[in-house]
Amino acid sequence: MAYARAPGAAWVNHSTRRCRYGDAPITEWYRGMSVHTPAFGGADRWKPKKKRVLIVEDNHLDSALFGALLESQGHEVLKAGNADDGLKLARAEEPDLIIMDVRLPGMSGLEATRTLKNEDQTRDIPIIVTSAYGPYADKNDLRESGCDAYMPTPIEITGFVDLVHSFLSRIPAKRA
Ligand code: MN
Repeated sequence: MAYARAPGAAWVNHSTRRCRYGDAPITEWYRGMSVHTPAFGGADRWKPKKKRVLIVEDNHLDSALFGALLESQGHEVLKAGNADDGLKLARAEEPDLIIMDVRLPGMSGLEATRTLKNEDQTRDIPIIVTSAYGPYADKNDLRESGCDAYMPTPIEITGFVDLVHSFLSRIPAKRA
């Protein structure tokens, strides 16, 4: 049976791992049925999914600290020690967020950010750039790279957690 969609409405793919509560269908036919019905995928059907964060950082202490903080918030962590590996992981895994250091061996984090923001597949992934330049980081370079946020290191822990949360709790724009 075909049904009419509102003209111009974007198609919503409920199987995408980026889906959120907001994407739940507006039907009530399941009222009174158990959430454990296999058709609903069990009780966790509409629970927000664990997020995946890619850390591109050559400094092991920073990498370990960011990773521990993200895992403490229930997220899954992917790590790369240089920009090339970071680009490969970003394309292969399409994480929900990327933490990108500026000074990396070989290609810089800003160059890697620019690359990801110029590719259709990865441009929607938010990127938080970090660096020890602190307040001396060149604002124009940062803006020009296309990064979504900048965080000086050493980080302030609650500030880091809040910033990460602000990106991971955001309902993403629907892809047409
Ligand atoms: Mn570094």
